[in-house]
Amino acid sequence: MRRKTKYQNSAEIVFPAKSQNESLARSVVSSFLMQANPTIEEISDLKCAVSEAVTNCIVHGYAGTQGDIKMKMKLTEDGDAIIDIIDKGCGIEDVELAMTPMFTTNTDGDRTGMGFTVMQTFTDKTKVTSSAGKGTKVRLIKKLQRDDT
Ligand code: ATP
Ligand code: MG
Repeated sequence: MRRKTKYQNSAEIVFPAKSQNESLARSVVSSFLMQANPTIEEISDLKCAVSEAVTNCIVHGYAGTQGDIKMKMKLTEDGDAIIDIIDKGCGIEDVELAMTPMFTTNTDGDRTGMGFTVMQTFTDKTKVTSSAGKGTKVRLIKKLQRDDT
């Protein structure tokens, strides 16, 4: 039987795909994590990974069109932070290819194709599930240092 994951706490927000909401997502994730007494590095790593994921929803998922982005935040009993960034945009046809360092579909030279690599570097696990035409979910998992003293 599969054990049901218990969460210490969870929260979610939904906001429109506008670049000014990148900083909102960063602030919300950092406020949510404070209860876990994280290190400054853990906070800045997750803020950076969240920024990349949210930017991708705006730039690629919705590509300038309107749409909502959902961010779900969870703290597990084991002290892991799980952050899901979800859009209902164009989706990704080949996730493995999209996650290859320096792969980008951007043609105007503004993008370096390093967003997923940054997410992977700053988390313990970055899991992407996507369906062409339906949208994308990026799950960022980071183990937080536990201070049980
Ligand atoms: P950078 O992040 O360095 O500015 P980038 O966004 O192109 O460049 P990645 O973040 O690694 O690089 O993403 C790689 C590719 O994956 C993108 O070019 C895009 O084709 C696709 N992609 C990423 N996120 C999404 C998304 N939410 N919806 C649709 N396509 C996406
Ligand atoms: Mg990117």
